[in-house]
Amino acid sequence: MARRIIKGIPVSAGLAIGKTYFLNRDSETSIVRVNITPEQVPQETERIRHGFRLALEDLEELRKKVPRELKEKAAIIDSHIMILRDKKFQNAACHYVGSRLINAEWALENAVGDIEKAFSRIEDEYIRSRIQDVRLVAGRVRSQLFGQPKNISEVSERMILLAHDLSPADTLELKLDKIMAFATITGGKTSHAGIIARSLQIPAIVGAEGLEEIQDDHLVVLDGFNGKIIIEPSEKEITRFTELKFRFGEYQSQVKRNCHLPAETIDGYQMQVLANIELFEEVTSAIDNGGEGIGLYRTEYSFLNRESLPSEEELYEEYRDLASIVYPQKVVFRTLDLGADKIAPHFGALKELNPALGLRGIRFCRQHPDLFQAQLRAILRASTMGNVSILFPLISGMQELVEVKEIYFRVREELKAQQVSFDPELPMGIMIELPSAVFIADMLAREVDFFSIGTNDLIQYSLGIDRTNKHVSYLYQPLHPAVLRSIKYVIDAAHAAGIAVNICGEMAADPYCIPILMGMQLDSVSLNPQAIPGIKRIIRQTTMDECKDLLKQVLSSNEVPQSNRLVRDKIFTRFPEELMFYTSLIED
Ligand code: PEP
Ligand code: MG
Repeated sequence: MARRIIKGIPVSAGLAIGKTYFLNRDSETSIVRVNITPEQVPQETERIRHGFRLALEDLEELRKKVPRELKEKAAIIDSHIMILRDKKFQNAACHYVGSRLINAEWALENAVGDIEKAFSRIEDEYIRSRIQDVRLVAGRVRSQLFGQPKNISEVSERMILLAHDLSPADTLELKLDKIMAFATITGGKTSHAGIIARSLQIPAIVGAEGLEEIQDDHLVVLDGFNGKIIIEPSEKEITRFTELKFRFGEYQSQVKRNCHLPAETIDGYQMQVLANIELFEEVTSAIDNGGEGIGLYRTEYSFLNRESLPSEEELYEEYRDLASIVYPQKVVFRTLDLGADKIAPHFGALKELNPALGLRGIRFCRQHPDLFQAQLRAILRASTMGNVSILFPLISGMQELVEVKEIYFRVREELKAQQVSFDPELPMGIMIELPSAVFIADMLAREVDFFSIGTNDLIQYSLGIDRTNKHVSYLYQPLHPAVLRSIKYVIDAAHAAGIAVNICGEMAADPYCIPILMGMQLDSVSLNPQAIPGIKRIIRQTTMDECKDLLKQVLSSNEVPQSNRLVRDKIFTRFPEELMFYTSLIED
């Protein structure tokens, strides 16, 4: 393969130089057109014939194992065997290779397309629906062409992982001694894969179109600052990136040295800087990087890679241990935010057309009251030291909040009746992630002790763009006036009601956004542990006046590109050294 550059969205800073491992689990989604030369035609047609042969052998083997009673299953396999034996299908695919000079996978796709067209003209609905069988058979041939599906755990040496997609559950399997960086074809600026990459401190890129062409064992440079993958880099590039990697390492250790100093501006405004964690084990990194407590524990992550549900006792022990490690600093337990892309195997994925708008977060919990109550009990029981807070995700309105509070207070009453101790003063807050919650922030503020603004979702829901979708990631605009006005409105409403506001979305970890958020006089931020030292350092070098001034300028602009430019220029001029080594949610 010749030198090439593939671009994507940078989501986790850093550089990696190494060999690739392509996780080809979903062969259907990795089909691309590759133009071939006339000399390559025999080789590609032979791949198709070989694919059909292997798929047929596989099915014939399977057919032998089907017990006689399972007549229906046997009949389906027989029909698939027939399709594979019918030479017309494979001949059509081979024909495309030669006539269009294209790769085997793409030719097979063309042949399936022709059959689909022919089937769509059939009147009989049952026969028309049998196109499904052709697709299944094509899938079998395709997986022979691509090789057997792979698994993250199979990576045996340090590699750069390439994948179509990495779910939040997959990211839990990423082992630092094996995976030095990753890139995915799908994903947006605040996809959970990126969030985990930052926590693990491995460079990552999402939304990288064309990755599937790289496949295994190619030397690449993955540039997590600029969202670039250089395939087969030159000697000169390798030297340059090796040096940059070294400088980044030096910068990181230098910033970390002062991470335990308070985040106080030059003019004395103190911001509390907390850590976001997904797993219990991250607590060490949160403390080591200068986190002043845990501002967001995404409790759903420990449900993603296990088949059975943890018992209340298991949850209690984990939560109690966490609270006592962090003590006297606080830990905010967010109740389960399952649903959308965070699927617990125990429940499986729901068939929803718009999962992000579906049974997610607090809605999911209310559909599973036993699980919700077990978690509430575990959090309450772990609160006896007095440093625990509880946080409900995705609250959309007053009625929902009142009902959730009823459940919560009922659980408290039950514990009291059973003489189980808990902290009666435990602060209770809600995530502000939906525009509906923003506009009634004044009402919601009277019902709770604090707000935590989840800008990842707030941007997604305010601007109507899926945060995991690369096609609309250019519209993921933190400096959109609607987003900034929403955040400001929430902070002002909370302060008027006398409650504190935290921001725990990725905006708080973005060096270009933090001065603007500071200008709104929020009370605390919560970020992935790795970002804490750098963000604290920026806060310490700034003044509140400067932040307010920048906020004013950005709020008075009604064009996002203009705001982006303004903020980029100002902040970069102020902190050139800091910003060499950052990724940002703000477009260039
Ligand atoms: C958010 O939405 O900003 C947030 C912090 O929650 P999550 O990223 O887990 O959805
Ligand atoms: Mg959220």
